[in-house]
Amino acid sequence: MEIGAPCWGSRALALLDGQDDGVASILIVEDERDIRELLRRYLERAGHSVLSTGTGAEALLLLASAAPDLVLLDLGLPDIDGLEVLDTATVMGVAVIALTARSSVEDRIRGLQRGADDYVSKPFSPQEVVLRVAAVLGRHGVTDQSDVDSFGGGRLRIDAARHEVSLDGQLLDLTPSEWGVLTTLAGSPGRVYSRAELVNRVRGYEFAAYERTIDSHVKNLRRKLGDDPASIVETVLGVGYRLGLRHDS
Ligand code: CA
Repeated sequence: MEIGAPCWGSRALALLDGQDDGVASILIVEDERDIRELLRRYLERAGHSVLSTGTGAEALLLLASAAPDLVLLDLGLPDIDGLEVLDTATVMGVAVIALTARSSVEDRIRGLQRGADDYVSKPFSPQEVVLRVAAVLGRHGVTDQSDVDSFGGGRLRIDAARHEVSLDGQLLDLTPSEWGVLTTLAGSPGRVYSRAELVNRVRGYEFAAYERTIDSHVKNLRRKLGDDPASIVETVLGVGYRLGLRHDS
């Protein structure tokens, strides 16, 4: 796909179709495709409907036509100043989280003064962005429909919006990395993820992390997964890991 071309998820299409099912809609405005797609994956997994574009001009059109609940806005856009999009969104009462490489305090203050609800500096963890999105939506009174995924006949339950995992009814206290490993595996039960893929998904594009660190996250995660953890996070020798439970439909 061309950079800048709009990309429509099925939920986003339903939204444009007028079938608003109560999920929050997020517009991602980011010209770097890798970052845009990474954010899309994480936000869709958290249950949001997502629209995205790589240009400011199209962002203005989408703001008017799709009326999103929140905009994730890169301030450094190729065509117009991101602050113009910020101004339009805030006039419309749309929540904005600014994404930027500009890390100076002055730029942060300027963005916040112009009406951004929150600010995330690159490089960021996509999980952190998901949490900030939930917090800002909550402050704006957008109903946070919790979207619980259940696996293995209800044994394992993952509530992305609440950032909660439970096994056999017990809430688990996971670190961000363990959460990342588990939710990545759960995103496609049975599919084998290599360590390199897990590093990439869990830590995001910004980390050139060591693949072996995944092994220690898996080890710690299994320690929290009860009596038979190796059947939940399965090792596929020489390849990587996969979720051993089926998604309950
Ligand atoms: Ca940019």
